[in-house]
Amino acid sequence: MVQKIMGKKENTSALELKIKKLERELENLTESIKLSEKVSQAELRFMSVVQEERFRHERFLHMLMENDIDIMFLLDKDFHIVYCTKAFLILFNIPHFDIIKDKKFIDIVGKYLGEKYVNKIGSFLKKHRNDSVQNELELIYRLQEEKKHRIFHFTMTPMFEDGKICSYLILSHETTALVQAKEQAEKANTAKSNFLATMSHEIRTPMNAVIGMSELALRETDNPLVQEYLSDIKQAGQNLISIINDILDFSRIEVGNLQIVELSYEFSSLVNDVFSIMRIHMKGKLVQFLAEIDSRIPRLLLGDAGRVRQILFNLLSNAVKYTRKGFVKVCIECREDPKGQRLVIEVSDSGIGIKKEDIGKLFNTFVRLDEEKNAGIEGTGLGLSITRSLCMAMGGDISVKSEYKKGSVFTAEIIQKTVDPRPIAELEKLKSKKTLYYCPDPLLSSSFGWTLDNLGVPFFAAGDMRELVQRLDTGLWNYVFFPVDCTVSVMNCIYRSNLKTIPVLLGSVSPGDNKSWDGLVVSFPYYTVSVANAFEGKKVVNRWNGKADFICPDFKVFVIDDLDINLKIASGLLSPYKMQLGTCKSSVKALEIIKDNDFDLILLDQLMPEMDGDALVKSIRSLKDKKYRNVPIVAMTANTAPGIREAFLEKGYNDYLSKPLDMYQINELLERWVEKSKRHNIKLQDYPVLGIKGLDEDKGMASCFHSREIYRELLYLYCNDLDYRLDILRKTANVKEKLTKEQELSFISNLHILKSSCETVGARSFAKTASDLEASAAVNIRDAMNLSDFAEELGTFRETILKTLLDSSPLN
Ligand code: ADP
Repeated sequence: MVQKIMGKKENTSALELKIKKLERELENLTESIKLSEKVSQAELRFMSVVQEERFRHERFLHMLMENDIDIMFLLDKDFHIVYCTKAFLILFNIPHFDIIKDKKFIDIVGKYLGEKYVNKIGSFLKKHRNDSVQNELELIYRLQEEKKHRIFHFTMTPMFEDGKICSYLILSHETTALVQAKEQAEKANTAKSNFLATMSHEIRTPMNAVIGMSELALRETDNPLVQEYLSDIKQAGQNLISIINDILDFSRIEVGNLQIVELSYEFSSLVNDVFSIMRIHMKGKLVQFLAEIDSRIPRLLLGDAGRVRQILFNLLSNAVKYTRKGFVKVCIECREDPKGQRLVIEVSDSGIGIKKEDIGKLFNTFVRLDEEKNAGIEGTGLGLSITRSLCMAMGGDISVKSEYKKGSVFTAEIIQKTVDPRPIAELEKLKSKKTLYYCPDPLLSSSFGWTLDNLGVPFFAAGDMRELVQRLDTGLWNYVFFPVDCTVSVMNCIYRSNLKTIPVLLGSVSPGDNKSWDGLVVSFPYYTVSVANAFEGKKVVNRWNGKADFICPDFKVFVIDDLDINLKIASGLLSPYKMQLGTCKSSVKALEIIKDNDFDLILLDQLMPEMDGDALVKSIRSLKDKKYRNVPIVAMTANTAPGIREAFLEKGYNDYLSKPLDMYQINELLERWVEKSKRHNIKLQDYPVLGIKGLDEDKGMASCFHSREIYRELLYLYCNDLDYRLDILRKTANVKEKLTKEQELSFISNLHILKSSCETVGARSFAKTASDLEASAAVNIRDAMNLSDFAEELGTFRETILKTLLDSSPLN
């Protein structure tokens, strides 16, 4: 029993334990249920927040789509409409998107935009369907109910899924207002440019009078002060013209109308033209002008010569403007390029330089740097920006390196094509061109050496005048190049030692310095072409002296211009050529006069009342007599548009002169049109025998290669030198006490030189006296001291020579 009871008790406690365990588990379970309820509540809350956010997002997106004024389509990869913004529905009054949903985009285009746009948009979609980038299309569209055109800009952007195009976004934006504003701005700009062009043209006409008249007035006066004033007026006029030209170019560049007219041209004459003008700019400046022009540049190039000239001129005149002392140097070479010849023009100077921070602004329009330092230097700040545009229009560019206060190097590159590949300068038989030279300036000397080397000429550079004469006397030189102040020594040496050496004067920048020499001259600056010309014995016509090179009394010229002042200027500029000159103010009357005369050249203004130049040319060309078809007619115009020459040639003119007219243009024109048989050389015809007592002209001329011209120049030099020798003679004659050793030596060497120079010019008896004096002075200086009579006679002789030379000058 007890056992039974014991057993029951045990069972009960086991049950209790189980119950407790179950109760604990139940508790845990209830906890878990509560937790999971909480989690799911939180989850629900979270979901509802996400949902809310998504709705908000979609609502905004929808609002955006509904209200965006741009039209947006989403197309599937077969161009069916998946989605489109409300702007499209509104534009075409489509009540609901479902009407166009899933339809082919191009059908909708046809239905609403009109059939004529189907092709354009269809081919655009087709063309770019596989492009992975955005493409654009401009569409001018007119709504049926609207009169105005509207302009839309389309883009088609591919959209990708797994790297493959799955749909397209078509975006269309109306740009009508933008395009119209742009058009208006362009119109205003064109109007401004046209205004500038017209003004420039109008200003050129009165400037013709200012420049032309000052040139004529310059000829009429010997008063140096008046000459200076007139030169200033002329220079200011020319500056104004170059500013106007710059403005004209600037306006052309602005409207994208900078034309490059390609024609064949001679490179060396282009360089020569620029150098002629630069010589005038350099006058009076303490700046050395150096030119190293590669002789291998092709002789004839194809390009716009006027524009190439402008680049070279702009860079050189800047270098001269911004350099107070030192040098300005131009180097030009050409390199082979797949598109032609790459001309590299490098202009360097030792001028004021450019600050580092300013270099980036250099090529902007109207920018002038360092105004404080540049005060007093004229300029508009247009030159470099025009130069860069020109270089770029010719397939090149321009760059600059500069060190402030030290100098600058501008390098312009352009591409030109070759017409005649022969080099601009080429010398044969180089062994027979052994050259000795002396340039007092070390920079000039080394640059001259570069040029001789470039031409392949063997040479030696003397360090000073003494070495020049010494080497000349002792070596076998074919040529000697020397500056003007060595002339007498060089000529004496050549004559005394009976040398076969050909003397060549190194011309100076100012024309007056070369005046007394009429032998061979290398004109300034010394560069391959001018040096090669000297070797070939060509005399260079110095175009800058502004004087007629010939007269042509049998040449008949007729000038027609409705303005008196223009007729006056043209006639004034032509008059030094002593031609037969007729003028007329009326184009109608002019035609009658032309019929009754045989003119060799007709110059006419393009813009005239009654009948303008073009119509007059037509009338002249259609006159019955055949000769009128060929008579050279030259247009005078203030128009400087590019391609002007070609335009005139097409209209039946043969040539053109641009106003303002000047002597250079006239000289060049006459060089082109006056046939050789009608030209008379001023100098040759007018050099008479001098007939001076005591002067053996034949003997003198023998030392001048029998050229009367050179002989006259030698006589001028002789007289200049004599002035100095006489001074020593007179001073020595007046010395009462014993001469110092130094004075003695100087006196004897003076007599020696005097003997040689008198012999050279043919003053035999004076040479003999000088020789006798020299011999006796060597024995006893006092014996030679009775000099007064000799000095007086020699002085009178000198005066007679000078007077006779002057009286017989062809310029009288
Ligand atoms: P500008 O008519 O003023 O000379 P540019 O366009 O030719 O106009 O030149 C712009 C500016 O660049 C000049 O005002 C000058 O400050 C500077 N500049 C041009 N060339 C040189 C040079 N060789 N040396 C120093 N400064 C120069």
